[in-house]
Amino acid sequence: TKWVYTFGDGAAEGRADMKNLLGGKGANLAEMSNLGLPVPPGLTITTEVCTYFYDNGQQYPADLKGQVEAGIAKMEQLLGNKFGDKANPLLVSVRSGARASMPGMMDTVLNLGLNDETVEGLAVRSGDPRFAYDSYRRFIQMYGQVVLDVEHHLFEEILESHKLDIGAHLDTDLTADDWKQVVAGYKEVVEEQLNQPFPQDPHDQLWGAIGAVFGSWMNQRAITYRRLHEIPASWGTAVNVQAMVFGNMGDDCATGVAFTRNPSTGENKFYGEYLVNAQGEDVVAGIRTPQHLTIAGKIENGSKLPAMEEVMPEVFQQLNDVRLLLEKHYRDMQDIEFTVQQKKLWMLQTRTGKRTAPAALKIAVDMAREGLIDQKEAVKRIDPASLDQLLHPTLDPKADKKVLAKGLPASPGAASGKVVFSADTAESMAGKGEAVILVRIETSPEDIHGMHAAKGILTTRGGMTSHAAVVARGMGRACVAGAGDLRVDYKTQQFTVMGQTVKAGDIITINGSTGEIILGHVPTIQPDLSGDFAELMVWADAIRSLKVRANAETPLDARTARKFGAEGIGLCRTEHMFFDADRIGPMREMILADDTTGRRKALDKLLPMQRGDFVELFRIMQGLPVTIRFLDPPLHEFLPHSDAEFEEIAQLTGKDVAFVRHRASALNETNPMLGHRGCRLGITYPEIYEMQARAVFEAMVEIEREGGAAITAEIMIPLVSMKKELDQLKALVDKVAGEVRQASGKKLEYLVGTMIELPRAAMTADKIAETAEFFSFGTNDLTQTVFGLSRDDAGGFLGSYQRQNIIERDPFVSIDVEGVGAFVELAAGKGRKTRNNIKLGICGEHGGDPASVHFCASVGLDYVSCSPYRVPIARLAAAHAAL
Ligand code: ADP
Ligand code: MG
Ligand code: MG
Repeated sequence: TKWVYTFGDGAAEGRADMKNLLGGKGANLAEMSNLGLPVPPGLTITTEVCTYFYDNGQQYPADLKGQVEAGIAKMEQLLGNKFGDKANPLLVSVRSGARASMPGMMDTVLNLGLNDETVEGLAVRSGDPRFAYDSYRRFIQMYGQVVLDVEHHLFEEILESHKLDIGAHLDTDLTADDWKQVVAGYKEVVEEQLNQPFPQDPHDQLWGAIGAVFGSWMNQRAITYRRLHEIPASWGTAVNVQAMVFGNMGDDCATGVAFTRNPSTGENKFYGEYLVNAQGEDVVAGIRTPQHLTIAGKIENGSKLPAMEEVMPEVFQQLNDVRLLLEKHYRDMQDIEFTVQQKKLWMLQTRTGKRTAPAALKIAVDMAREGLIDQKEAVKRIDPASLDQLLHPTLDPKADKKVLAKGLPASPGAASGKVVFSADTAESMAGKGEAVILVRIETSPEDIHGMHAAKGILTTRGGMTSHAAVVARGMGRACVAGAGDLRVDYKTQQFTVMGQTVKAGDIITINGSTGEIILGHVPTIQPDLSGDFAELMVWADAIRSLKVRANAETPLDARTARKFGAEGIGLCRTEHMFFDADRIGPMREMILADDTTGRRKALDKLLPMQRGDFVELFRIMQGLPVTIRFLDPPLHEFLPHSDAEFEEIAQLTGKDVAFVRHRASALNETNPMLGHRGCRLGITYPEIYEMQARAVFEAMVEIEREGGAAITAEIMIPLVSMKKELDQLKALVDKVAGEVRQASGKKLEYLVGTMIELPRAAMTADKIAETAEFFSFGTNDLTQTVFGLSRDDAGGFLGSYQRQNIIERDPFVSIDVEGVGAFVELAAGKGRKTRNNIKLGICGEHGGDPASVHFCASVGLDYVSCSPYRVPIARLAAAHAAL
């Protein structure tokens, strides 16, 4: 078997696409060699050796040694020196390199091959004893730490005390003799710790380092990292042995790291740092302040140290040429490492560079414009989930901040404002133009108006799918939920955390993307939705066939949805329209009425308001489809809980308080989620749905009269489990339509459909489709009912399920394909069998989750519907699903 692949001198046995065998570093070193770039020669021991090693009781394959020696001989031949030679020694680095870069792995060892004799040879040949002994002390320290497990501080103490003795500040102040003394001290430490001398035989050193790399594959750090990043242990790591080049041979030497474009902004500007007279590790270790590569970078960062562009203009030019060549070759932004030895440039690494979400967008769009990649590729490179960071205000990274506590990052974006503790205060203060943060122990549907008015929402209880989190995401408000360290006291209007008290009116900032709660005002940066973002979305739209609608009921949400490219409303939750101050009164009157006549009287007051809502929504949507869901929640959600409120209602409705309280408690249910709600309300109180149908149809008439685009309303009956429920309610809707047609003389186009959110409905979808003209999968409730899991209570234990690997992701966030998805697929199939053109969509939180969008595309749904702020994410995810 071939266990070893060599590279160097414009050729290599490996290639970039051999990452599985050679690891990322090895494959790219080979690729750069093949491209003719200056790469110090070396060899890569394959990942298969790692696998062999662990499969065979930590033994190497018998023929490995010979192949490594042959590889070393090839390096010697190219460089004209010899490994272990006293007069002209070859020195190497030993570098680990898994397929994916892995922080848990062994650190690189540089300058391997030095010992008491070869260091002298290096001193003589280089004519620079200081350099030779500097390299030797680096080697002993690195090898000591990394391979022999000698603690870092033992070396540091020796160096520090020597510097103190001679009054030196910087490492560069030390002379050859100083380093000689440090080396002697280092060797003593190693001998003390290990009871044997520092290994002098270069071959022992080499195999010690190789063994340490393979050994590190199974160390705890690496195992943990693999588990977190789902990297299988069977992948193994490769080992690279590469001839050393020296950045520490004097002032015409340097070492550095660079990105071919700016990794935080994405600008097409060379961006990097270097150090003169230093070795690789020094740049990251922060021993000295690194200098900028370019003059522009230097100026931008206000650095006084000269740029490489000024100090070594020729080498810089060469490096810049390499940068352009690598980008052209890899067609992506690269992260590179280089060393300059006596004015000669050497490339030591290249890989795809990590970048921020805004940079990823800019780079993808720019590269498509530059012709490096096509538009499809640009679309593919943007992770839909990362758009979340681009669509909301973010905290200015340059600003100072005092973090008080952390909660869950429940809804992205950052917001500053005065602390308020009630929804009403939030609304009234916002009405006066004040920015407020609504702080609650938890929120309920009654708080919606305050959540809308607030810039951000902070709760101390509840998880990622709590009411506050779901509603905030829907509205695009920043939200930090479940900040358990905060003690909120509504009575004294303050909260305390870590001994600090924050009162109503004090200013705080919350970061819904990180969960941070910060004292005071922190400046934010507004997102830019034009330019690159808009362009990429156009490309994405050209690729996808799955439509994207939004869940919206307020005019503001509908406008936001359109701004983000929604192609209709997939879910208008009419109950949200009844919580506003002018509605809740008649709504409560309706609920408390003794009989149908009393209910009708109250509903008559609601009719014009609801009709007005629909008119406005239809106007904004300009003929795009609008799905209107009739009243869904159990009625008690509209009733108050406090004595003061009971009295107020009693007065308003002319009933006595005891009666009101009695009614409210009578409406309470043991399992409201499975109780008197959805179509069950329509069956028992048909006058409610009748009013809603009338409001829809009369709104359509009004739109027609004002000459607006023709509307096709999609009337959606929730929580149907039996065909007969839908039959009865569709007949009611049709009857009202007939009446409005007669009165107005208008045609009125509409569909009646249902949500599929109960297992029985999914199982009997073929029957239901005889009546239903469309299905919308209500996957929130479907997840609750298929799992038998209450969304409001699941937060308490789902975390534990995730930690114990019973479930991978929260099924309320990403659809459970195996179980819930099976019901969706089954019902979609049954629905189509009965009615082959039946419209199929999904509404609920899942509509904005990329993995769930993929699932929806795979079962051939017509559209997904999600909260307005997630519309771009769904559009991009739908494009990815089509690629
Ligand atoms: P990491 O994966 O942590 O970046 P590397 O193997 O890339 O580890 O090496 C760490 C540092 O050592 C880098 O700065 C690299 O440029 C430098 N280095 C590695 N091999 C050599 C070599 N043969 N000659 C000079 N410097 C090297
Ligand atoms: Mg590196
Ligand atoms: Mg539902």
